[in-house]
Amino acid sequence: MFSIFGTGVSKGICIGTAYVLRRTSLDVPDYVLAHEFIEDEVQRFEAAVEAARQQLKTIRRHIPKSAPSETASFIDAHLLMLEDKLLTESPVELIRRQGRNAESALHIQGLRLSEVFELMSDPYLRAKKTDVQQVVERVLRNLLRPDERETEEIEKGQIIVANDLTPADTVMLKHQHIKAFVTNLGGPISHTSILARSLGIPAVVSAHSATQYIRNGDEVVVDGKRGVLIVNPDKNILKEYRKRQRRISEIKKKLTLLRESDAITTDQRHVDLFANIELPADIKAASSAGARGIGLYRTEFLFMNRRNSPSEDEQYRNYRKVVKAMKIAPVTIRTLDLGADKQVDGGGSGSGPVTVNPALGLRAVRLCLHDQTLFRPQLRAIYRTAAEGNVRIMIPMISSLSELHRVLEIIEEIKEELRREGKPFGTNVPIGGMIEVPAAAVSADLFAPYLDFFSIGTNDLIQYTLAIDRVDDAVNYLYDPAHPAVLRLIDMTIRAGDTANIPVAMCGEMAGDVRYTRLLLGMGLREFSMHPLNLLEVKKIIRESNFEELKKEATRVLKMTSQQEISDAIDHLNREDLN
Ligand code: PEP
Ligand code: MG
Repeated sequence: MFSIFGTGVSKGICIGTAYVLRRTSLDVPDYVLAHEFIEDEVQRFEAAVEAARQQLKTIRRHIPKSAPSETASFIDAHLLMLEDKLLTESPVELIRRQGRNAESALHIQGLRLSEVFELMSDPYLRAKKTDVQQVVERVLRNLLRPDERETEEIEKGQIIVANDLTPADTVMLKHQHIKAFVTNLGGPISHTSILARSLGIPAVVSAHSATQYIRNGDEVVVDGKRGVLIVNPDKNILKEYRKRQRRISEIKKKLTLLRESDAITTDQRHVDLFANIELPADIKAASSAGARGIGLYRTEFLFMNRRNSPSEDEQYRNYRKVVKAMKIAPVTIRTLDLGADKQVDGGGSGSGPVTVNPALGLRAVRLCLHDQTLFRPQLRAIYRTAAEGNVRIMIPMISSLSELHRVLEIIEEIKEELRREGKPFGTNVPIGGMIEVPAAAVSADLFAPYLDFFSIGTNDLIQYTLAIDRVDDAVNYLYDPAHPAVLRLIDMTIRAGDTANIPVAMCGEMAGDVRYTRLLLGMGLREFSMHPLNLLEVKKIIRESNFEELKKEATRVLKMTSQQEISDAIDHLNREDLN
């Protein structure tokens, strides 16, 4: 028995047999061709690229309906790379100019591109290096082993242990009902982590030596919460984990019974629980969790992995799909939040020089005001959708009043335009502002008269308040939603909303983190919006809590000065007997 430590990125406990995906590393032959063989070599290369394209298209066609919405985007990203001249034409030039064989020409170009991505200051773009390597490897395999099969024979219900997983791997693996993922590489925002969370299966990434020490058929315990793997556990450990597993599954079963129940405290305070979604396909998860509506529809996902922005009509059709599916429940459509951690091909934010500090640059509402050819069609699509259902609009990253005034002016212009054109549109769409920049939280009282609601975006609020890049692993250790500065800003926002009599919601990750449910409840938050998978657990805690008790506790916490003292107080708040 031994343990391996990594990063837990999708919670849950799994006990099963390991299947180690040992993709043997490819030996790349390197030789110089005689002149008369060069054109044949070019053709061999182009056939391998075409084969890769066809393989990815086949995989894309086989994406099961139940697969998470991000799956197709991951495959599309690889297909787009196969269209890029840097991957398709540059190797041909190397074959023609230097007489290199196809494998070596592709390998050299792959290394060059990886280096370019490696030097990018933006971690999201840096992570694209992995995609380049995966696409290069696929074409290389076609050159070296044209008859190799796409996936290995994996038995149902195994734990996949791999160096890293490509999006195509995950689609194929989905068919095999995998129980958990373990990878040597990866971080909390890698494909594997995102997919594992959407599938609701445990995953541990960054378990550096996993493929080296784990063998096929080993019994493994994966603890996706703590990021621990126990290989060939002894009887006692196994007994303990089986017990924990049973407890988790009993809790889950009980949670589903809460689907139709209200989120109401023991002293009758009503709370609204909403879902965050990224694509219309996510509605299913939101409905099965019993969400009261959509508290955050991240519209930028429609702009990703494509060359051109979606037209007004395409956007309208997408929003309409969500609104119709939610029937009378509110759908909060957030206007484009492109830039920084959300780079795209179809939104125009990726053009021009690479920004030194993308998170502080032209993103979200700043980009929309700067490039109104993005903003106006989206506003038109949202207002047209609002004629057909319960729509709210939400503006991300507002930092000054003049910005908000300009947005409101543009909205009036859009409404006037639609009126002139005789197109039906929503006349009374509530307009909310995301409070995710410290400046907005500190001056929330100044914004309140012009807005119908606030929604606190803690992911960015924490990033900007504590000066920690949200996608930089090196400063992850400083991430603390309960830092006194963050709590004060949340408190100021809730109080400003209460004074102005407008609702205050929270839609950042903190809203779905059960550790903070009671504290936020005590601070007066009444609307939580989160990933649907967390919703029932949060509801359970609310139903077991007494608001008046929590209010007193939260008042005490807000006066505390040290992070440790606050952390201890939250532990105390979360003790079962404080109900
Ligand atoms: C946030 O910043 O908390 C938020 C909900 O928005 P996003 O994560 O999309 O930036
Ligand atoms: Mg944000």
